[in-house]
Amino acid sequence: MSLLPLTARERDHWILARRPARNRLDPWQPYAFLSEPEVGPDGEVIEAATIFLTNRECPFRCVMCDLWRNTLEETVPVGAISAQIRYALERLPIPGLRRHLKIYNAGSFFDPYAIPPEEYPEVARLAAPFERVIVECHPGFLGRRCVEFREMLLRHGGGEANSEASGVSEGSGFRVQGSDRTNSEFENRNPELLNPEPRTLNPLRSHTSAHRRTERRLEVAIGLETAHPEVLARLNKRMTLAQFRRAAEFLEAERIDLRVFILVRPPWLSEAEGVEWARRSLDFAFACGASVCSLIPTRDGNGVMEALAAAGEFAPPRLVSVEGAMEYGLQLGTGRVFADLWEIRRFATCGACSEARIARLAAMNRTQRIPPPVACAECAP
Ligand code: SF4
Ligand SMILES: [Zn+2]
Repeated sequence: MSLLPLTARERDHWILARRPARNRLDPWQPYAFLSEPEVGPDGEVIEAATIFLTNRECPFRCVMCDLWRNTLEETVPVGAISAQIRYALERLPIPGLRRHLKIYNAGSFFDPYAIPPEEYPEVARLAAPFERVIVECHPGFLGRRCVEFREMLLRHGGGEANSEASGVSEGSGFRVQGSDRTNSEFENRNPELLNPEPRTLNPLRSHTSAHRRTERRLEVAIGLETAHPEVLARLNKRMTLAQFRRAAEFLEAERIDLRVFILVRPPWLSEAEGVEWARRSLDFAFACGASVCSLIPTRDGNGVMEALAAAGEFAPPRLVSVEGAMEYGLQLGTGRVFADLWEIRRFATCGACSEARIARLAAMNRTQRIPPPVACAECAP
């Protein structure tokens, strides 16, 4: 039994009741922006500019989410989103390297209450100097708007529109799980969903054609969170593994790349289970066509996770577990794998080896190779 209420509606209320205050933000400025090197799809190091937009809060209430802290309660005025992007681009360094642009909005880029669609043409124009644009989106908001935005990017970037587009119905989006039926009920009747055909494609090796290098690409990041069906249902994401897979198929048909966020040790899993399910989630994401997976150590800080921790239902992962998940993903050789190192020192539990482990994770991010393990007599992982 969990502290969490059983029904989705009650879960939403329970989660909202535990929230601390959100930060006060200016709708005309991004709440953060940065530029950092990242290994690109063909193994080359590129410069990735990341802009964290200020916009209306995501309508979902995921148990582990703390992104709402930097959001607004109302939709921003039309013009504010492109003003925020302009603000960040004017202040970010202009590197000599090839560039990617990540536009993260603490929700879904194609949620019209978050990013007014009237903004798409100007956002696409501002993104013209970048060869790849990465946005995040819940499967429930993927559809016609996503295809329209991709077409705008291609027009501004001089790329070719996709003549093989699969066609998307008016206003479509992947149906969001709204009932209290658990994912496992669905998956039990559809066991192949957990074991889709494995892919042998290795983007680090195969995406090296000149066509790939020059074509402007849209990439959509989706939070799979975990391939554990029951845990995914409890996370209140309102998404099943089947919905994730259909979203991945849609993106592939539209020649839009897929980035996947995976939690390392979500609630309700032991340390060992946390690593095991991070591995299975990597398998699932790559089998669905992900070109890059980002491993996110699950942390507290949103009120809900503290309540679960106090009840013994959540504990953050150890650094060695993040390393283990990362090593597994890299040795698959299927696509890029990154570890999210934001506030990573919160996960440091051993004074003797934590700095070496953080440096090792950073090296794996940078090189996409597996360095020798860190030995420690103090914590003996
Ligand atoms: S879908 Fe993403 S942004 Fe929305 S609540 Fe869930 S984790 Fe947070
Ligand atoms: Zn140690």
